Amino acid sequence: MKTVWEKYNEADMKACFEFNEGYRKYISECKTERECTLEAIRIAKENGFVDLEDVLKAGKKLNPGDKVYVNNRDKNLCLFVMGKQPLTAGMNILGAHIDSPRLDLKQKPVYEDHDLVLFDTHYYGGVKKYQWVALPMALHGVVCKKDGTKVNIVIGEKDTDPVVGISDLLIHLSGDQMQKTGAKVVEGEDLNVLVGSIPAKDTEKDAVKTAVLNLLKETYDIEEDDFISAELEIVPAGAARDYGLDRSMIIGYGHDDRVCAYTSLMATLEVSEPERTSCCILVDKEEVGSIGATGMQSRFFENAIAEMIALTEEYSDLKLRRTLANSKMLSSDVSAAFDPNYPGVNEMKNTAFFGRGICFNKYTGSRGKGGCNDANPEFIAELRKVMADADVQFQTAELGRVDQGGGGTIAYILANLNMDVIDAGIAVQNMHAPWEVVSKGDVYEGYRGYKAFLKKM
Ligand code: MN
Ligand code: MN
Repeated sequence: MKTVWEKYNEADMKACFEFNEGYRKYISECKTERECTLEAIRIAKENGFVDLEDVLKAGKKLNPGDKVYVNNRDKNLCLFVMGKQPLTAGMNILGAHIDSPRLDLKQKPVYEDHDLVLFDTHYYGGVKKYQWVALPMALHGVVCKKDGTKVNIVIGEKDTDPVVGISDLLIHLSGDQMQKTGAKVVEGEDLNVLVGSIPAKDTEKDAVKTAVLNLLKETYDIEEDDFISAELEIVPAGAARDYGLDRSMIIGYGHDDRVCAYTSLMATLEVSEPERTSCCILVDKEEVGSIGATGMQSRFFENAIAEMIALTEEYSDLKLRRTLANSKMLSSDVSAAFDPNYPGVNEMKNTAFFGRGICFNKYTGSRGKGGCNDANPEFIAELRKVMADADVQFQTAELGRVDQGGGGTIAYILANLNMDVIDAGIAVQNMHAPWEVVSKGDVYEGYRGYKAFLKKM
């Protein structure tokens, strides 16, 4: 049996497609790490999770079966379902990232050029810049004002909203441009977003800029200086869609890695009173190296575990270390799906294919496995058993041919805490393009695989 489609009966097909409806909605509405975090918290609360802060404030203890979450700055979230065994026995951890490549507004973004007003951007993550032009784009994010208030902005998602975008040179005048290499066809400083063209009346200098700023003042009560303390992201506008005449796939922005975040979250919601504590990490900043307070290298995770140990028994540093070392983790991140248009970058025996289930990558990295977390075979053998017992279809893959390129995930960071970790995710076509593609079958098997791991590992 090659693909899940051959395995699924009518009821499986129905369950698979229904699950994917929830996912399609989630990525259509959540296009920033903040939106992903806040929506995940809303869903978690509906499913009985409470804020760890509230447990602390109430002076309560944590007991088996309790469901708690830790919110780090609205950009990074950990959910826990407390196990029957003590934390020091280790946790079963799923970790996915919720930041995706995009264009961030600079701190001083607004300028006028020949009666057009533009926002200057700095791209975030690894992008082929030429893919991000000539598309309808939306503006998502927050503006934090001096008075302590925060303004949420989402423009370009409703049918009645305007969209913005970045121009590309017309083919008629692209003689010079077409001679450039792909890396230089569209350059970083040319990713400027056109946002307006009507001048303010009776204004001498920068009349169009004045008009756009007036509009922002009226609508959001923000001033030009407020961009200094803003986090505004330019992302592809519009909802994720069914892809393929048979609707077997989804095209959407930010599958990397919200497809693993959503499936991990849904799997976690279905756990109750597990043997080992279940943990789901949704983390920021993976696309730029996992650094910063909301990235995986931050101490937030260890701090959260320390707080939880203190809420179950007498705290000690040794207990924290034991908890981490005895934990097991699936670093849930996307794989590269085989693309018939570009078969040459793969080695076919070790390539991920659409529809063949959740994908385990023993190692990522580049060149001679540089920078990889090479998972231990003892751990992989345990996983094979868990997947087989739950009838979850999986495949194994590398990220491309040897020496073709490579990539990394958060796997090595948790492995540095001395736990067993393997990359386990869902295959994606067009990775890091404005619109990426996944197979619904893989999304569903990913969710089933994560659930089996939390319950049975
Ligand atoms: Mn990723
Ligand atoms: Mn990525």
